[in-house]
Amino acid sequence: MRIDFVVRRQSLLARIRAAEQRHHRPSGSVQLLAVSKTQPVAAIAALAAAGQTAFGENYAQEALDKIAALATLGLEWHFIGPLQANKTRAVAERFAWVHSVDRLKIAERLSVQRPIELPPLNICLQVNIDREPAKHGLDPSEVAAVAQAVAALPNLRLRGLMAIPAPVADFAAQRRPLARLRELQESLNSAGLALDTLSMGMSDDLEAAIAEGATWVRIGTALFGPRG
Ligand SMILES: *Cc1c(COP(=O)(O)O)cnc(C)c1O
Repeated sequence: MRIDFVVRRQSLLARIRAAEQRHHRPSGSVQLLAVSKTQPVAAIAALAAAGQTAFGENYAQEALDKIAALATLGLEWHFIGPLQANKTRAVAERFAWVHSVDRLKIAERLSVQRPIELPPLNICLQVNIDREPAKHGLDPSEVAAVAQAVAALPNLRLRGLMAIPAPVADFAAQRRPLARLRELQESLNSAGLALDTLSMGMSDDLEAAIAEGATWVRIGTALFGPRG
């Protein structure tokens, strides 16, 4: 199992570095977030032994159990799933990043609940970039106002935007919503924010995401294999 993870992670890092080069991105400007939802602790430990430090989880209770079990490894945990108000305290106490903030109320709770002895909690706003009905995320038209409000909260550091575009196979079509997310971020920076993070790109669209400026690609299947 250990060898599989070393090989898969190396080939994924090679894909990321090749896409950086092809699309004129600085080498090392794209980071790999290993999405470990539903994966057992042993698989995470094996990937950590292969050198991976940043892990993404979607479900608070599952994540807290894993974080406790792997506490000695010094891993960096990113919350990337839908976040309910009754789970914000645990997330504020245990995670380094939340990529999936889609309401000001959730950010306010995280701000109040972030322990002051920890560094600020890194935040991305999740945007429903394709305006899909019943999908999580802020409507693009709401993002500017929420971003200004979140940026003003203590104990948080607003880093950027996150999206999960509707899946499409064609490279040019994949790029379009990712470009819109980048442009939205650029407009926020023109309005005075200093955002440096675009969390976009999964196993099937990571090259398109890197072409459009991704700084974190969130990869599950291509690292761990299909989820059971
Ligand atoms: C599951 C998940 C991923 C990883 O998806 P893969 O297609 O397995 O790479 C990335 N981001 C989020 C928010 C997810 O829920």
